[in-house]
Amino acid sequence: PTVKEAPRVLAPRRVSRTFAVGDIFMGGDAPISVQSMTTTPTHDINATLQQIAELATAGCDIVRVACPRQEDADALPAIAAKSPIPVVADIHFQPKYVFAAIEAGCAGVRVNPGNIRRFDDQVRDIARAANDHGTALRIGVNAGSIDQRMMKDLQRVTPEALVESAVWEASLFEEHDFHNFAISVKHNDPVIMVEAYRQLAARGDWPLHLGVTEAGPAFQGTIKSSVAFGILLAEGIGDTIRVSLSAPPVEEVKVGNQILQSLNLKPRKLDIVSCPSCGRAQVDVYTLAEKVTEGLKHLEVPLRVAVMGCVVNGPGEAREADLGVASGNGKGQIFVKGEVIKTVPEADIVEVLLEEANRIAATMDAA
Ligand code: SF4
Repeated sequence: PTVKEAPRVLAPRRVSRTFAVGDIFMGGDAPISVQSMTTTPTHDINATLQQIAELATAGCDIVRVACPRQEDADALPAIAAKSPIPVVADIHFQPKYVFAAIEAGCAGVRVNPGNIRRFDDQVRDIARAANDHGTALRIGVNAGSIDQRMMKDLQRVTPEALVESAVWEASLFEEHDFHNFAISVKHNDPVIMVEAYRQLAARGDWPLHLGVTEAGPAFQGTIKSSVAFGILLAEGIGDTIRVSLSAPPVEEVKVGNQILQSLNLKPRKLDIVSCPSCGRAQVDVYTLAEKVTEGLKHLEVPLRVAVMGCVVNGPGEAREADLGVASGNGKGQIFVKGEVIKTVPEADIVEVLLEEANRIAATMDAA
């Protein structure tokens, strides 16, 4: 049998404590999980479960649902029972919903520390209830919920203020012997966010939930999150991630998974290596790459497919990949594992690539 080499990563993972959020482990050596949040009214149980199913299919590991009203709290037992992935209730203002979510069987609750401060005396009860039910918590600090005492005379939220607020909130739960929580110190500025997580990572062994808040529409949000998460993950910091986009949540999950795959923190699946095209291109590389990506998005195996516009870099990249095409003179040379298997007319390139990709994928599935 061949021994598989471990994928190369940029840094060892930071050492963090481990706990379970339903059947997903957080921290330690557990895979870095991808989270998202539903956009349906939580009290619309069917719509929420439908969206959760779509998120799970897209590769979401943990899903968060908002719980702003009693009718949402009332929906939690059914959602927690039927969801295929662990459900975390997002509670901002009403402590009573924290208890409702714990009793509803939610795998976790996200609490807003700025509002916990108002019910310090209830921290003990929350810790006890969460311990009794095996419920995990996330202490989610962000600019809007920072403890005002940490702001002192600051005009703006600083990484230090975010971290001090989070560490203080964490200590409240730890005093009551509750340890199954992750912390987030999100900010919409990736520079502040990165600095905050670096500082927090040095202060304790809590699993860290990475996020850039209000990152923006898909294009800007994807870049902000990728840059910020990339820096931290490359330093071994981060145990679970949520990309926040002003876009359907399935997009958040796709981006999150792609970030992890790019850093070898999650097994790579389909990897399209396509050239940017240039004046030498002899085919429409953009359309070709898009059609191949679309046609192969169902694949669950680590297939590397090269789509190259001409014969300058084409054959080299195509040879490195499991499958590839190097185009020129209205034709495409199709490579499989480094060998040219055929040359086809340009009009047939997509069809032949898809056929070959599915054939190779079937042999990988069977292996
Ligand atoms: Fe340009 Fe050819 Fe390189 Fe594509 S492979 S970028 S077309 S030189």
